[in-house]
Amino acid sequence: MSETVSETIFTKIINKEIPADILYEDELALAFSDINPQAPIHFLVIPKKPITTINDIEEDDKVLVGHLYWVAAQLAEKHGFAQEGYRAVMNCNENGGQTVYHLHLHVLAGKAMGWPPYQDKLKTL
Ligand code: 5GP
Repeated sequence: MSETVSETIFTKIINKEIPADILYEDELALAFSDINPQAPIHFLVIPKKPITTINDIEEDDKVLVGHLYWVAAQLAEKHGFAQEGYRAVMNCNENGGQTVYHLHLHVLAGKAMGWPPYQDKLKTL
């Protein structure tokens, strides 16, 4: 059975029912290290409000989603990688590679990130 948003592991992390390496917390958002890092620095910034995917962002959530990027930038500055740069990305649904259905911003840093993410021959729409 697929996970509903109220059942995701991230809700349990927000509620402190399971441990996480928490880097930042305020009333709107939480940032914590990714359990399976894909870069020397890899953490997630999530809204405390459960939003399933990018597609489920409502008009009232626009400031909240901007806040996630602000938290990412604050942490980049605090941990000294703001100037050298980083990747901040949200995956959406299957083709985007989303596995946890609670909106989250990946922040990856500490090495140069590859681009583009898709290497096959491209067709125009
Ligand atoms: P997605 O694939 O949905 O874009 O990213 C989900 C991320 O959540 C993955 O990078 C995965 O490693 C991370 N993740 C999954 N379960 C846990 C967990 O229990 N704790 C932490 N800290 N990260 C998790």
